[in-house]
Amino acid sequence: MSWDRVERLLGVGTLAYLRTRTVGVIGLGSGGSFAAVALAMSGVGRFILIDDDVLEPANVVRHAADRRYLGQSKATAVADLIRQRNPEASVEAIHGRIEDHLPRLAEMDVVVVGVDAEGPKYAVNQACLTAGRTAVYAGVYERGEGGDVCVIRPDEGPCYACWAEHLREGLAEPIGAETELDYGMIGPDGTLAAEPGLWIHVVRVAGAQADLALNVLLEDTEAHVEMPGNTVILANRQLEIYEGRVTPPYGAEWVSVPCNPDCLVCGCRRPHAASSRVSLSDLAALGNVSLEDDHAASEAPSPAASSTEMRTDS
Ligand SMILES: [Zn+2]
Repeated sequence: MSWDRVERLLGVGTLAYLRTRTVGVIGLGSGGSFAAVALAMSGVGRFILIDDDVLEPANVVRHAADRRYLGQSKATAVADLIRQRNPEASVEAIHGRIEDHLPRLAEMDVVVVGVDAEGPKYAVNQACLTAGRTAVYAGVYERGEGGDVCVIRPDEGPCYACWAEHLREGLAEPIGAETELDYGMIGPDGTLAAEPGLWIHVVRVAGAQADLALNVLLEDTEAHVEMPGNTVILANRQLEIYEGRVTPPYGAEWVSVPCNPDCLVCGCRRPHAASSRVSLSDLAALGNVSLEDDHAASEAPSPAASSTEMRTDS
């Protein structure tokens, strides 16, 4: 293995530092699998991969793993892909639900969240706040029109619950039993219904997610770059992200989503926040109600939900 070009870019010391870092990837669908392999190819030395799914024929056209891995655990398949690219990497594949492995988050220097359901995201959010871990979440919009990536830190800014309440608010429509579930809408169990986007559109978002995760890992080095906000919104085609503001194809916008002082999870890290924690089912239900958000509205622009129905990719 020759890392000379990566080494020339990052510096010998920084590359050596990356080899000591651990990335956790939660959810190894099309986006998560790409992000995991991209980080391995960027010099990260240790991986913990968690997913409870197996690779099926329908996944192959938009997944890093190909037909050779059909029927295998996605976590095991991506672990093999990482070892093929970076044999020196230490990779642990866990076939299971993240909710059953939350203590492992404490071992991760950054958590890359690629799951499509909101419930596991809230579980990861709470555990990351407790363990003091930074998480990078990605979501791809309906039909792969674009997507967004946010960096959620344990000690400042919004937690994922604050963030989702703000940026997913227009999508939080309750779905009745007789209502047909449109793609990108939140289902009765608090999950987003996935719609396939083209691989080329998914990986643009996943590439940004991997890049921002790498930037988190490099925080103590000279290679770290200060980003203009905690969220980047990517347009794969012309997209009205803010009302009256059209982002051209391949454009990107940075947003700083504010913390919500009334957040039931973090309460902006108020001292009493730890005693006001609510159950996971309560948190999942948050996605099904539209909450008034007087605090955030005056601090940051609200996205126009009309053309940006959300999903994450599996
Ligand atoms: Zn919060």
